Amino acid sequence: MSASASWIARDAAAVWHPFTQHATWTADDPTVVERAEGPWLIDVDGRRHLDGVSSLWTTTLGHGHPEINAAIAAQLAKLDHSTFLGTTHTPGIELSEALIALAPKSDDPELTKVFYAGDGSSAVEAALKIAYQYSAQTGHPRSRFVRLEHAYHGDTLGAVAVGGHELFHEAYRPLLLETIGVPSPGDRALGPDRGAVADARLRSVMGEHGDQVCAIIVEPMVQGAAGMLDYDAEFLRTARELAYATGALLIFDEVATGFGRTGRMWAAEHAGVVPDLLVCGKGITGGYLPLSAVLAAEHVYEAFLSRPGDRAPRTFFHGHTYTANPLCCAAALANLRVMGEQDVVGQAARLGERLGKLLEPVAAKDGVVEVRRLGTMIGVEVAPVGDRTGFRVCQAARDRGVWLRPLSDTVVLMPPLTLGETETEFLVDALDAAIDEVC
Ligand code: PLP
Repeated sequence: MSASASWIARDAAAVWHPFTQHATWTADDPTVVERAEGPWLIDVDGRRHLDGVSSLWTTTLGHGHPEINAAIAAQLAKLDHSTFLGTTHTPGIELSEALIALAPKSDDPELTKVFYAGDGSSAVEAALKIAYQYSAQTGHPRSRFVRLEHAYHGDTLGAVAVGGHELFHEAYRPLLLETIGVPSPGDRALGPDRGAVADARLRSVMGEHGDQVCAIIVEPMVQGAAGMLDYDAEFLRTARELAYATGALLIFDEVATGFGRTGRMWAAEHAGVVPDLLVCGKGITGGYLPLSAVLAAEHVYEAFLSRPGDRAPRTFFHGHTYTANPLCCAAALANLRVMGEQDVVGQAARLGERLGKLLEPVAAKDGVVEVRRLGTMIGVEVAPVGDRTGFRVCQAARDRGVWLRPLSDTVVLMPPLTLGETETEFLVDALDAAIDEVC
C-alpha cells in the first residue's frame, strides 16, 4: 500500500472535509500533502505538485517564505496570543496602520479604521452586521441587502444570504436574511450587453427599494468563485453613485481580489471607486495564518460612538476569541513588507500578462469556451464532454505535476504572484496537455 492510500484510509475513518461529498470522495484519489517549498506542494509519496491555485487563492508569495516564517517565529517568542477585546497589542496596531496606509484612497469615503476577523466569511459577516447597525444608529433602520447573482461571499449564514448561488440558498432558505438579487454584469448568459442589463436593474432596484437597503455588496471587477466572471468597472461607479443617493453603504468583498491578485493592490483601483466597507482576507498573511479584516470608512466608525443621552450603547457587538491574533498580525506585517520591498503587485501584473500570452493558444482550442482573466485571476472554461469535465481536466493536470481546482467546468489558475518563468510555462503546458487529453 502506498503512503497516500494508507493516509486516505485513516482520513476516511476520522475526517469530515469542507464542501466535500464523502460518499464518493476517496474514489477521486485525493492528494495527501505533507510539506511545501515555494510554489510546490509535496505529497506523502514524495510527488511534487505545482500549486496552481495558491492553496485556495491565498499563498501569494509561495510556501515557506523565510521572512514570513521568521516573523512568525519572532512573534511567537514575544507574545503568542492576547485578547483584542478591551486590550490591544503592538502587532495589531502596526498592522492596522499599514492596512490604512495601503487602502484605496478618496476624500469621501475615507477608509480609516480596521476591524479584524478570522477568515473571509466571518469578515463578510461582520461587514453585514456593521451595515445593519449603521443604518439603525443613523436613524433609518434598514435590513435588506442588494447582492449580485452568482456571487460568492462565504459560507456563514449572512454570507450565504448575500451570495448568489441557488444551490446554497435552497439548502438553507429559512435561515437566510432578506436580499434582493441583481443580474451579474459578468454573466455571459446575458450577452454582450450584460453590463448595461445589470446597471439598469441595479438602478431600478435602488429606485424602488433604496430606502430599505442597508448595503450593496459586490466582488469588485471579477466574481471569483462564480468562475472568474470579470466585468466592466462602470458597474462599480453606478453602485457607488446609487449607494450615495439612497444612503445605503457600499461593501466591496476583496477577499479574493485583494493584495495584488488582480495586478493592482485592490480591484477597487481598476474602477477608481472607494467603498464604505472593504472586506479582505486570503492573501493578507501571504496565506500563512488565518486572518481577515474589514476596512471601514470614518463616517461608519463614527456612527458607533456613544453619545450623551443614548438609550443603548452604540458598541459593535461582535468579536471572537482569536480576533487579531498577534501571530497572524505578524505574518501579515511581514507579507506586506515583502510585497512592498519586492514590488509584488508589479510582479503580479507582469505574471498575469505572461499567463495571458501563454494561454492564447489554449483559448483557441475547440474544447475551450473562454479564457477569462484579470491579473492573475484566471478561469479557463472548457466545453462539457460527459460528466465533471473541469474536474477531469484538473486530474489530468495533476498527473502532469500541477495541482488545480475547478469551479464546475471552469479550471481556475491562481498561482503564487511570484511564480518564476519556468514554472509558469510548466503550469500552462500541463493544462494544455490535460485539455487535449480530456476535451
Ligand atoms: N468572499 C470571497 C470573494 C471569496 O472568494 C471567498 C472564498 O473563496 C470568501 C469570501 C470566503 O472566504 P473564506 O473561505 O476565507 O471564509
